[in-house]
Amino acid sequence: MGYQARKSIDNNDLKSSASSSSKWKISDAFAKAEAEIVLEISDEEKSALISKIEQLLKKHDATLIAHYYTDPEIQALAEKSGGCVADSLEMARFGRDTSSQTLVVAGVRFMGETAKILSPHKKVLMVDINATCSLDLGCPSDDFSNFCDQYPDRTVVVYANTSAKVKARADWVVTSSIGLEIVKYLHEKGEKIIWGPDRHLGRYIAKETGADMVLWQGDCIVHDEFKASGLALYREKYPNAKVLVHPESPERVVKQADIIGSTSQLIAAAKKLTTKQLIVATDQGIFYKMQQAVPEKELLIAPTAGNSATCKSCAMCPWMGMNTLTKLSSVLEHGENEIFIEENIRQEAKKSLDRMLAFADNTKINIRASGDLSQDHTLFANIGPA
Ligand code: SF4
Repeated sequence: MGYQARKSIDNNDLKSSASSSSKWKISDAFAKAEAEIVLEISDEEKSALISKIEQLLKKHDATLIAHYYTDPEIQALAEKSGGCVADSLEMARFGRDTSSQTLVVAGVRFMGETAKILSPHKKVLMVDINATCSLDLGCPSDDFSNFCDQYPDRTVVVYANTSAKVKARADWVVTSSIGLEIVKYLHEKGEKIIWGPDRHLGRYIAKETGADMVLWQGDCIVHDEFKASGLALYREKYPNAKVLVHPESPERVVKQADIIGSTSQLIAAAKKLTTKQLIVATDQGIFYKMQQAVPEKELLIAPTAGNSATCKSCAMCPWMGMNTLTKLSSVLEHGENEIFIEENIRQEAKKSLDRMLAFADNTKINIRASGDLSQDHTLFANIGPA
């Protein structure tokens, strides 16, 4: 599978944030991510670097935990060295349960923070401490807290892609795997919701559950770029293909989906579906694990631009792209990029995370997709043709 170069997005297109100050922060951080030049290294240098990283992981009793959207070489190394490749929550849970006292997180900052929230006594290092996320950046804790104060009678539910401070302000933290079930539960109890920060996921959940939700207006700069018109053309071109969409995508893209789900759920669905071609609307870093799961299938990234554009299917997060083997080696060598969270914030954030974990246990909802759609029945409840 060939990976295309990371796309260049005009910062003026960044329209996700709820305030002009947070919009500026996203643009600024995005520009920094784009300005980074990842130096090519030869295959020999790469092999030597990988061996060195493996030795350093052992020497420091460290475990590498990588997100699905990171470079395939980092994902492969995480697997080979006994770490894991997963979504953010599973990364944190794996980190908590492993015996290693040092966790190296290849992903973005909120993932390192979530790992630290669940493993306060472990050292949590980021491959790149400046790797962030437009959802996190677009939801500054002070602004979000003021927003919540305007609706004191509402329950605050936030997506995992938020800072520890925002999680601490919330009543519940949810992932895209379980957000729908938790909001449905709260709605049935008569609770009104404040949702943040992803407006697309919030709108999707509100529509599916009928819940009364006030939405923070953030979005993911990667998923927000998928284009409904381009996807319609792809479906005409590949009439037998099934369309798999992450619900952080715009509504008109979600409407064309055969399967809507989180990263783990989309991989599980790819295994179960019998069609040979799959059109996928999420960061194309997922193709590393998805192609492993379905080596016989052709994976097509959903288009991110219209018919006349030259760049149609980059779909790669610039911040995930900041995770490189060279930086990983340096972090292990020097113990850099450690995550620290004030203890009172960590404890408050943990309460919101623990509510979700307890809900998953009590309702026997499996947040981890097994790959069998019949077994993963509850995961896919309410998920299907939109
Ligand atoms: S892909 Fe989107 S949601 Fe994920 S880290 Fe990047 S900006 Fe954030």
